[in-house]
Amino acid sequence: MTERRFDTLAVHAGEEPDPATGALDPPVVLSSAFAFADAEDAAGRFEGTRSGPIYTRWRNPSVEALERKIAALEGAESCVALASGMAAVHAALTAFPAAGDHVVAGGSLYAETARLLRGHLARFGLETSFVDTTDPSAVEAAMTPRTRVVYVETPANPTLAITDIAEVARIAHEHGARLVVDSTFATPYHQRPLALGADLAVHSATKALGGHGDAIGGVVSGAWADVECVREEGVRTCGAPLAPLSAMLIARGVRTLALRMERASASALALAERLAGDPRVERGL
Ligand SMILES: *Cc1c(COP(=O)(O)O)cnc(C)c1O
Repeated sequence: MTERRFDTLAVHAGEEPDPATGALDPPVVLSSAFAFADAEDAAGRFEGTRSGPIYTRWRNPSVEALERKIAALEGAESCVALASGMAAVHAALTAFPAAGDHVVAGGSLYAETARLLRGHLARFGLETSFVDTTDPSAVEAAMTPRTRVVYVETPANPTLAITDIAEVARIAHEHGARLVVDSTFATPYHQRPLALGADLAVHSATKALGGHGDAIGGVVSGAWADVECVREEGVRTCGAPLAPLSAMLIARGVRTLALRMERASASALALAERLAGDPRVERGL
């Protein structure tokens, strides 16, 4: 297989010409349910020994096209797409621990993620220690025998705090926990958490991945078995699949991700340099 560059993957990965019509731009499949060839085919699909969708709540061809594209960009074995970034965060956080278990989370998190951990998950018996993950020794000190997940957002929204993913992954794994990274701000263009040792990479696809402000969605990438657990939890059981039309809009947005991130980064650098050289501006943090 020839190796494709990120920009090329962003355009082509996950999207095959439609076998039925030959359409280069695959049609959006809105159908909620799918026909089986016969009873044996149905049994095989339910058992997972045959491929093919059954019901859009847990698999849909348009959503799977986006999942393949994100997995390719993230360098992941697999990806699952969900109804929002928060659905993705929730599923990634709840797929593995049980009541009585412990989470170590960054002190600087997207507001709803902090609320999810402090309120909703605490009510169901999952305890969280919030620590400054920019200091790996603080993560190490917070680990307990019940810690199942270390959860960091890097760069964090909105503080832009940066955590050393490789170092925190090493600490998490030493204690038998998984590292989940919310990588929304960086996108896979700038940062691939899995290559640095994280177990799951989470994104709000609503932001830079979709890039056009017209679709809400979330994605979780990682090893196939882990992603299947997240799919079971967030999509099949809790019922938060990504809508096929939103999958198409997000996949279309991702095609221009490299171009948009290059321009956004150049604009941010120009702005930072201008502000740094202005005597009226003081460093705030
Ligand atoms: C926006 C955002 C989320 C939540 O995503 P939604 O798609 O709005 O549910 C989670 N994490 C980060 C870092 C975000 O910026």
